[in-house]
Amino acid sequence: MHDPSKEDIALIEKASDYGKKMHDGNLRNSGEPYYNHLFATAKNIAELGMGATTIAAGFLHDSIEDTRATATDIEKEFGKEIVFLVESVTKLGKIRYHGTARYNESLRKLFMAMSQDIRVLIIKLCDRLHNIQTLQYVPKEKQLRIATETLEIYAPIAYRLGIKKIQRQLEDLSFAYVYPEDFKKVQKLLKTKDVEQEEHLEKFEKSIKKELAKEGITDFHIDHRVKGLYSLYKKLSSMGMDIDKIYDISALRIIVKTVSDCYKILGIIHGSWRPLPDRIKDYIATPKLNGYRSIHTTIFTGDGGIIEVQIRTEEMHKEAEFGIASHLSYKEYKKGVDKSPNQNLTWITKILPKSEHKAVGSVGARDIPHWVKELVDYQKDTGDEFVDSVKNDFFKERIFVFTPKGDVIDLPVGSSVIDFAFAIHTDIGSQMSGAKVNGKFVSIDTVLKTNDMVEVETKKSAKPSRKWLEHCKTTMAKRRINNFLDTKK
Ligand code: MN
Repeated sequence: MHDPSKEDIALIEKASDYGKKMHDGNLRNSGEPYYNHLFATAKNIAELGMGATTIAAGFLHDSIEDTRATATDIEKEFGKEIVFLVESVTKLGKIRYHGTARYNESLRKLFMAMSQDIRVLIIKLCDRLHNIQTLQYVPKEKQLRIATETLEIYAPIAYRLGIKKIQRQLEDLSFAYVYPEDFKKVQKLLKTKDVEQEEHLEKFEKSIKKELAKEGITDFHIDHRVKGLYSLYKKLSSMGMDIDKIYDISALRIIVKTVSDCYKILGIIHGSWRPLPDRIKDYIATPKLNGYRSIHTTIFTGDGGIIEVQIRTEEMHKEAEFGIASHLSYKEYKKGVDKSPNQNLTWITKILPKSEHKAVGSVGARDIPHWVKELVDYQKDTGDEFVDSVKNDFFKERIFVFTPKGDVIDLPVGSSVIDFAFAIHTDIGSQMSGAKVNGKFVSIDTVLKTNDMVEVETKKSAKPSRKWLEHCKTTMAKRRINNFLDTKK
């Protein structure tokens, strides 16, 4: 991807040696030297195209936790930036999945880490990937917890960051441990389709090449992918486990040079094969919120088959596989290593505010902070000035407060209980009769701060008053109050 400089190589070698020395004598559950885990983690990071700083931190990520090395030692050897990454990863290591109650707490920690430096999460994902790849060596009683944590927390994070390459492995590897019966069922179902699919694909690939050649298009790359087992399982669950209703078990992928080639090829394909209505998705004109861009169409192949075709440029393909990492690596090399922890924030706009499936886990839209959604909206009128202000101020201007169940609600600084109530639900806001903050009764104009736990009491007879408008900060609350007052006139 990029050629590392002499300094980059020296830094990575130094970190590798340091990790090896510190973990000397430590073994993994598999009986291998611990260093193999450090190497695998660093390699995963490098494969995402991350820079030398992040790769070096990968070699050091377990040093503080598992060896005699202290943060001070690491700072002395490698500097402030690397010790920041290593310490942040160490803190994240404390996250455990303990059912839904603590799940939000875990997500909150992850989002907090992300808000500081997204590279922390990338290291953590790469660490987890190797741990799940070697889960068979872990004592049986720990396997389920680690696999569940991976499926419920880490895979969705990889998805939100758009790192398909890691997401898919995390999902499919942990799926086998978390839902062993379903795993076997899906595997078996897929096998019944295998041969049929493979033959169709090969035949169809040839026909497409021929059609494109007729139109003078020869400069493209074509291949196919089979849907991940877990992703197939989620789709099956919502389709009554009927595999014949799923048209994208395998898909043909055409990768071209330019956007206009994408549309040209779509035209040629639709000119030769009949597309299924309502299955044409133009994620180039309207990208998914995690940044995914591609054109999808599903067509009748003419011999009784149905095939999904995905058309995208090389750049889009790279982004689809590496997500946020593809932007970070570019930044790391272009501007030198990031100094300020918030520099990567603009890329958070790529994060998906909505999980596509709710079949299994508890991961849903409500778990995604509002600011991510807001960023996605704002992105439409991005001037440089706006981007800068987002980078510098956004997190300083947000507070994170909790519902009694532990859900995180984030609001602009200066928000009151009124804002909180409307952020939860219009009905809660408009029927609010009182509130407790951290267990104590307060007046509803009380200004909240990060970590407050807020409980709203409602009464059917309660109504918003005009006065509330003076004590709320969010447009949402103001609009709702005004709506209420208008309809009462
Ligand atoms: Mn580790």
